[in-house]
Amino acid sequence: MIFIREFTDFFCESITHTILLAIRSKTNIHKSKAKDKSATFSTNLENTGKQSVAGRGRSCSEGETSPHHHKLTKGMNAEYSNINSYDSIQVHGGSGYMLEYACQRLYRDARITSIYEGTTQLQVVAALPHITTGTYTSMLDELEAAAVAPEFESLKARAKAMDDKFKAAIDYVKAAENNEFLDLCSRRLYEMAGNCVMAQLLIRDASANAELFGKSAKVYLNLAEAEVMKHSNFIMGMTAEQIADYKA
Ligand SMILES: Cc1cc2nc3c(=O)[nH]c(=O)nc-3n(C[C@H](O)[C@H](O)[C@H](O)COP(=O)(O)OP(=O)(O)OC[C@H]3O[C@@H](n4cnc5c(N)ncnc54)[C@H](O)[C@@H]3O)c2cc1C
Repeated sequence: MIFIREFTDFFCESITHTILLAIRSKTNIHKSKAKDKSATFSTNLENTGKQSVAGRGRSCSEGETSPHHHKLTKGMNAEYSNINSYDSIQVHGGSGYMLEYACQRLYRDARITSIYEGTTQLQVVAALPHITTGTYTSMLDELEAAAVAPEFESLKARAKAMDDKFKAAIDYVKAAENNEFLDLCSRRLYEMAGNCVMAQLLIRDASANAELFGKSAKVYLNLAEAEVMKHSNFIMGMTAEQIADYKA
């Protein structure tokens, strides 16, 4: 269970930062202008914020480390913080771009997270052996085997279907026995691993505390399912022969 604590902690770190973005930014804007645009975004933040507080608390009390989990969490968190800070500016329109508004600074802060302490691309390179040798699929097997509350069984079935797509994509890429093909698909496999593990963790947490994590699990699963489908379609439709098309 160590990886679960670690993964949650790192994911929450990024989400906490994101919430900070929104709170700081909100103090600087004309609220009426941003109200409609921010409605959906705020709901998302609210849900992930609940997860953040609980996740951090658990990790602080039980903190342990597993390097191969860091590879997954560091890259995924960095990319999520970029997406969320991008949206923070977008919510404010042109005002958000101006120096006077805190979100432009936070956007730049987020941007460096995917560069320093190992770029996202290097997190993918480091995680790839764990993807191909089954470290992450073993995690998923363990998470899949755990029982959940009846109200989350349908979510669990959808998450299992995601995991199956991830495993099939790994098998497909490995069967090609072509390193260039593996490189081409590596980022997508990496994101599939992150999506699948995080979805399972949120369902587990929702099962333990539906009020705190139920909405987060449902919202995240909708996103993760679409992402996994997208990557699966790309990989399963790709052949080694197509690699030449990606070269200058
Ligand atoms: C504000 C700031 C603070 C920093 N603080 C520190 C610090 O405290 N300590 C410290 O040691 N460093 C620090 N750095 C340096 C930082 O760690 C490096 O910038 C970072 O590791 C990227 O290295 P690079 O800039 O040489 O880019 P490069 O390594 O040249 O990478 C350029 C691009 O190529 C990609 N790339 C490189 N290799 C591969 C590969 N094998 N496969 C796929 N893609 C690849 C990278 O992902 C990146 O997109 C800091 C940088 C900044 C901007």
